[in-house]
Amino acid sequence: MKDIQKFVRKGNLDLKAYIPGKPIEEVQEELGLTEIAKLASNETPLGPSPKAILAAEKELKNAHLYPEGRCTLLIREMSKKLGIEEDMITFSNGADNCILLIASAFINEGDEIVMGDPSFFVFQTVTKIMGGKPIFVKLKNHIHDLNAMRERVGKNTKLVFVCNPNNPTGTIVKKAELDKFVSQLPDFTILILDEAYFEFASDKDYPDGLDYIKQGYNVISLRTFSKIYGIAGLRIGYALGCPEFIAALNRVREPFPVSRVAQAAALAALEDEEYRERVLKNNREGKAYLYNEFQKLGLPYAPSQTNFVFVDLKNDCERVFQDLLKKGIIIRPGNLWNYHTFVRISVGTMEQNRRAIEALKGCLL
Ligand SMILES: *Cc1c(COP(=O)(O)O)cnc(C)c1O
Repeated sequence: MKDIQKFVRKGNLDLKAYIPGKPIEEVQEELGLTEIAKLASNETPLGPSPKAILAAEKELKNAHLYPEGRCTLLIREMSKKLGIEEDMITFSNGADNCILLIASAFINEGDEIVMGDPSFFVFQTVTKIMGGKPIFVKLKNHIHDLNAMRERVGKNTKLVFVCNPNNPTGTIVKKAELDKFVSQLPDFTILILDEAYFEFASDKDYPDGLDYIKQGYNVISLRTFSKIYGIAGLRIGYALGCPEFIAALNRVREPFPVSRVAQAAALAALEDEEYRERVLKNNREGKAYLYNEFQKLGLPYAPSQTNFVFVDLKNDCERVFQDLLKKGIIIRPGNLWNYHTFVRISVGTMEQNRRAIEALKGCLL
């Protein structure tokens, strides 16, 4: 046995590896099931945009060539779509990787990084990798408590992460509250808005992170092609910010982070408005169905601005998770976030939603 302590970077042993949603392949192998509904990772249940599939297939013949490192065509299209300069955007292999870029670019050892609890797990991992100190601030009614977060911002606070809408709760902070929060941050602190579910949020008071960037605040917004654009498996996401922040991210980025296939598919998906409408419609209907069923079962849930619902099953969530697995339904148990009776369930196709609810009824005590 090697004494790993001698080798690894300080803090490495304190890290916990990310626990992803259980993969379909694993459940198939372990339980010999074929019909599996994975409602655990907030993926799009409708498959990718057909246009994205076609574009990806076409690009495969160029796979011997390195990709274009900067994602020039995508940056051009995105800058037009958002009405910002090209140097305010950078692409990488997923918003997850953009979070790591942010940590590598900005966090010095000892810096304090304020984040919600529970929120997206990757925030604390990248903070610890860089020797930063995560400062956890409990959510209030499943929503980021911006007043409490503001109180924890001090002279060593480099970053504040606000996941809006929040994963795993699906809730948002509203524009008026975020306006105030942003304007009160010190000039040495950057607000990182993780807006992975931006396109799903329909509340009229949902703030657009880009507005703060345009107004010159220290804000970086993160978005992704994994959720509304339906290509999580190809790994592509992006960060928006002022040219100085984006240049700082580009300096720590690897040379060719986004594959040719992912770039081609993303370009096609970007243009497929009809697909996105379909995803949104499926999500609206599915969420309404789930809400209604949860109400009938007397199970409280957090109102969600995303494609998943955080619901209190009033049962041991690990047991329900295992029971549902046996029936071919994969969900995310809340014990990951110390919510031992909650689960996070992604909105599936209507057929999957119905199966999930029927199966759930059979496991609740
Ligand atoms: C899904 C998700 C991401 C990751 O997006 P990728 O582009 O697939 O890496 C980032 N943040 C949150 C909050 C997410 O839920």
